[in-house]
Formats: sequence, structure tokens, C-alpha cells
Amino acid sequence: TALDDATAPVPERHRVPDRHAAVPPSAPGAFTSTPDTDPAVRENRAWVRDLLARVPASRLGVAGAQAAQVTDGRALDALVRDARDAGRAWGARPAAERAAVLDRAADALGARRADLLEVMAAEAGKTIDQGDPEVSEAVDFAHWYAELARGLDHVDGATFVPDALTLVTPPWNFPVAIPAGSTLAALAAGSAVVLKPARPAERCGAVLAEALWEAGVPRDVLRLVQVDEDALGRELVAHPAVDRVVLTGAYETAELFRSFRPDLPLLAETSGKNAIVVTPSADLDLAVRDVVASAFGHAGQKCSAASLVVLVGSVATSRRFRSQLLDAVSSLVVGTPDDARTQLGPLIEPAGGKLLTGLTDLEPGQAWALAARRLDDAGRLWTPGVVTGVRRGARTHRTEYFGPVLGVMTAATLDEAVDVVNDVDYGLTSGLHSLDADEIATWLDRVQAGNLYVNRGTTGAIVRRQPFGGWKRSAVGPGTKAGGPSYLVGLGSWASAPATS
Ligand code: GLU
Repeated sequence: TALDDATAPVPERHRVPDRHAAVPPSAPGAFTSTPDTDPAVRENRAWVRDLLARVPASRLGVAGAQAAQVTDGRALDALVRDARDAGRAWGARPAAERAAVLDRAADALGARRADLLEVMAAEAGKTIDQGDPEVSEAVDFAHWYAELARGLDHVDGATFVPDALTLVTPPWNFPVAIPAGSTLAALAAGSAVVLKPARPAERCGAVLAEALWEAGVPRDVLRLVQVDEDALGRELVAHPAVDRVVLTGAYETAELFRSFRPDLPLLAETSGKNAIVVTPSADLDLAVRDVVASAFGHAGQKCSAASLVVLVGSVATSRRFRSQLLDAVSSLVVGTPDDARTQLGPLIEPAGGKLLTGLTDLEPGQAWALAARRLDDAGRLWTPGVVTGVRRGARTHRTEYFGPVLGVMTAATLDEAVDVVNDVDYGLTSGLHSLDADEIATWLDRVQAGNLYVNRGTTGAIVRRQPFGGWKRSAVGPGTKAGGPSYLVGLGSWASAPATS
């Protein structure tokens, strides 16, 4: 394929690029993470009740900002060229000015938390507890990239030259945090942005863009567009005035983009098939909690989701672990996000293709510990599935289903478990539950993934503290991590002499 190099062995120096990045400008401890909404506070519960009542009739993103629907090639060409011109002017402004706009964007995003939660629930089926950390993450991205921008102009006598125009093509599963992070990073670096939200979540993109415009991002520097993907998507991606495409999506989409334009500068976070390993030394209560949250949060529709659990040695036959896991999974309340009780919301679209296969078909040796059941006619609401007896090399071992189904595998030893975990094409997140220091050291040394989590779930990376990104087929491009100290550097180039415009 066009991206075959992505599957070559990853040299050590590329493994966790941010470890080797320039020291971040903030003093240790100076960066404050934005807190999520605390449901223990009575006023917050009332606030959530009010916003849930608005979800079924939500017209946010329809009444206000809307993406420009571009339907012909000439209009697209003009839009892209104009955006690139605006980008040159934006990039010529002092980084401190851009950073100040980003700090205001952080405030604007925080102030629109309720709107963002409402539109995420209404449009993308996100429950409030899943959407709330997305808003916090978006605010953190704004502050963090502002801080990075302030340190960007001159490093070691070299001058950073931002791309003039970045095309941002985010997914629908994190319809606020991911487009916010990619857009804010490009703006901070000094690039104009054409933001093309994922179709199923375009109203989320509209509310996001509106917040950024309100904060002072010039309208010609951030363009919100929608195109018919078949007719004009190729033209947009391949347009020579686009300096870089920031993609979060399936690995196949990255391949498709490269087939449109082989020399495309691409910064992509792609697919994952992530596992949590549980050893006999683990705190099993904690392991159950983290496996359930990592597998079934947002109905498993996360690149970072754990869709496999690998049970080592005696854990494989532990009746206690099995019954706790199955009790916890079968207790999850499936429903729509306007109901405050819902823990497992709807799929973004009816299950089809490989996900439908994963939810319904068993392979040799497999058995349902909990069979997934379809609850609605459309096929968007499913009870969670747990399949045991997953053999190495099975479809359930190696295919990303992106839905509410967890495969259970077993291994005699930790080494064997790591072999199982590594025997997939992707390397995004990985989890270990163990209280044994030697086991932790072995696993950290051998496991092939960008984000490694010990005694914690595999989702919900925190800006600045847990830079997010993978290797193998989970990343295409420079391998810089979102929310990390070197992310902006992937959105431009270095010149040894001061740049002229
Ligand atoms: N950054 C998200 C997390 O840590 C995952 C993003 C994705 O699924 O694309 O859970």
C-alpha cells in the first residue's frame, strides 16, 4: 500500500517522540488541568437536568453557525486559496498574539460547556459523563498550545515556519475534543485552518467554530466547510494549496488520502486494537472497573478503547474475576443520552460491516459470556457483548470493531500475553493491571503502543500529562503526539535564517 512504511519496525528513537522533545516552556506543575463537572455539587446536577431536557429538540449548530456547503470545484478552489492567503498573514503575527487569542478561546469553550454537551448528546449520542471530559480537554488544548506557541518562534537560533494552510478532518467519536485540538494546534503554530467536520457530527463542529470566532479567531483564518466526500473530498485533500492534512480516523482513510496525493504531508492518528493485560498480582476490583470503562465507554467507539482483555495464569480461571466482570458489564444501562441513567449510549449509525459481524458472529472456539442484543429497530442500541475463547489470530483478536464488544483472551505467562497484544497491526494504547514491579518493567519494555497505562483504563489521555499518539498502523506522519510538547513542530518546518514573508 501507499503507507507500507508505517508498518516497518519502529526504531527506538521514534517510539515515544515526545520524550525527546524540547523541554516544555511551563515550569513543572504550572499547567493546570481543567476539571470536569462535579456531579457531587447539587447545582451541577440541576444544570445537567436542564441541559438533558434540551437534548431531544436541540437545534444548536443549525440556528447559529453552519458549515459552508461547497458544491462546486471553483468555489472550493477559491476558498482554499483565500484561506491560505489569510494563513500567511496569521502566521506573520507575533506568536504571543496568537497565543492570546487561544487563551480567549479556552474561556469561550469553557463558557459554552452546556451547549457543547447538548449538541454532542443530540447529534453524536454522547452521554454527559462521556462528553464532559471532552470539553475540559478542548479547554486544555487551547491553553497548552497557547503556551507552546509562546516558545515556538525561536529555538536554538532556528526559526519556525508554520504551514500556511492546514486541512483538519476529524472523526465523529470525539466530535469536540479532536477537532478542537487539531484546529487549535494549527492556529497556534500560525496556520489557517479549513475544518471539515465529520458528517455525523457537523453541528458539533459548528458550535466549536462559533466559540473560536467569538474568541477572536478571524473568520478567514478558520473556515468551516462541508463537502460531498465522493464528489469534492478528493479535490479538497489533494489541493496543492493545502500544506498539511491533520486526520484522525481509520488507517484506511489515511491510505485513501495518500492515494489522492502521494506526497501529501499528513499528520494522522489512526486505528487501534488495544488490550488490557491482567496478571495474578493485580487488584482485580480495579481491573474490572477499568476494563469495563475502557471497553464500553461511548459504546466502545474510541480508537483508544480496550477491545481485548488478556488474562494471565490463574486470572484466566478465576471465578471471582469472571463473575465480577460479567456482573459489571451486564449492569450497564443501555439507552439514549437524554436519559440521565444511561451509561451505554447509541452507536453513531446502525451497526454494519465488521462491527455487525463482531456483535453477532462467533469464530471457532469462541462462546458468548454475554451475547450482545439489539434493542431497537434501527440497530443503534445494543447491549454489550463479551466473547470468550478468542484465539490468537482470530478476527476478534486483530480487527478493530469500534463498538460495544469485548474479547477475552488468555495467556500462560506475561510474556505470552505481551506477544498476543503485539500481534496486531496497530499500536495506540495498551493497559496493564499488575502490582508487581518486575511485571510492570517487563511489560513497559516490550509492549508496542504509544500510550501505556498501568493500573488505569486506556482511554481519556490528559493534555500535557499524557501526550496521545501511537505507532505501527495507529499513526501516519511524523509521530508527534497530540497534547504533547512537540505537537506544534509537526505543523511547519524549521528555517535556519529568519523567515521572510
Ligand atoms: N484521546 C482519546 C483518548 O485518550 C482517544 C481519541 C480517539 O479515540 O481517537 O481516549
